[in-house]
Amino acid sequence: MRVVVSGGAGFIGSHLAEDLLADGFEVIVVDNLLTGRRDNIVHLLGHPRFRFLEQDVATIELLPADAIFHLASPASPVGYRRHPIETLLVNSIGTLRLLECARASGARFVFASTSEVYGDPLVHPQSEDYYGNVNPVGPRSCYDEGKRFGEALTMEFVREYGVDARIARIFNTYGPRMDPDDGRVVPNFIVRALTGEPLEIYGDGMQTRALCYVSDMVRGLRLLMERDGLAGSIVNLGNPDERTILELAQLILRLTGSKAPLIYRPPRPDDPTRRCPDIRRARELLGWEPVVSLEEGMTETIRYFRRILSSTTVRDA
Ligand code: NAD
Ligand code: UDP
Repeated sequence: MRVVVSGGAGFIGSHLAEDLLADGFEVIVVDNLLTGRRDNIVHLLGHPRFRFLEQDVATIELLPADAIFHLASPASPVGYRRHPIETLLVNSIGTLRLLECARASGARFVFASTSEVYGDPLVHPQSEDYYGNVNPVGPRSCYDEGKRFGEALTMEFVREYGVDARIARIFNTYGPRMDPDDGRVVPNFIVRALTGEPLEIYGDGMQTRALCYVSDMVRGLRLLMERDGLAGSIVNLGNPDERTILELAQLILRLTGSKAPLIYRPPRPDDPTRRCPDIRRARELLGWEPVVSLEEGMTETIRYFRRILSSTTVRDA
């Protein structure tokens, strides 16, 4: 069985590719390394069932497959502000190309969408039938509207051509292999805690996020692909353990044993004030819920950042 993972050199995609490979699948990663890193998949490169195509998904013509996970896209606010046009294109043209591949091969398809389709939500927690509160022209719109377009396109391939496609609305996910420079809250706080620099809180720190550990996310994505009878399903995947950003900073300081100070910076424009998934649908359709606690997952993630920071220091010395 051949599985394509677009964005497989990124954070979530590399864990997914590794997991599929361990279960005996043939895995093809398509990634142009826009925000991903070869280091994330270097250990897979010699594997006989693994292939890496360093390519923009928008240029894919035909890629025979049994299943396609479409994860390619910048994902962090800093990443998509750095590459706004690329973000719109990978979620539109890139999604179109991969849906055409799925149609031609009869492959199942999972589109990695996002909780950002709910924008700055007015409903808590967010369930899949909420239409969202998105600024269509603001600084986050390249991502939010790119994903919303990708979702609409995916649903039209289901309706028009009978493609067996499913949509995962992924909520904030964290774990080893996050890029230390991509500006997301978890790598920013951990790196600063470990180096003793101030942790910067944007706004008053009372905004919330609910963080899902990457192994839980990979399991959810795979179940969404593997369960029969789910064509056209849209499912939130995330951990409903909602915390304020201030609580998260305090937790990371405690787990690292750091004395780094907290400093407050102006809020980011259009920063969602609350975000938390309603995962009842994932429980019902997939029998899925996260099992890794924030403390456990954060401890693993801190261990990873300690290791990469110490190897960078050794290399730089
Ligand atoms: P990431 O940036 O680590 O990985 C994305 C990968 O896509 C990178 O390796 C990048 O090089 C690749 N890519 C980007 N444009 C490409 C293109 N045109 N052609 C080929 N490859 C391309 O991000 P991630 O956190 O692993 O996110 C993976 C997916 O999950 C994304 O689609 C993202 O929108 C979605 N998602 C992630 C989160 C999260 O918290 N991590 C939350 C919601 C949604
Ligand atoms: N944030 C912060 N300090 C940082 C990075 C992020 O206070 O160094 C806040 C950010 O304003 C947002 C939350 O943490 O409210 C999550 O930000 P992230 O970039 O991880 O992802 P988002 O959920 O906004 O896509």
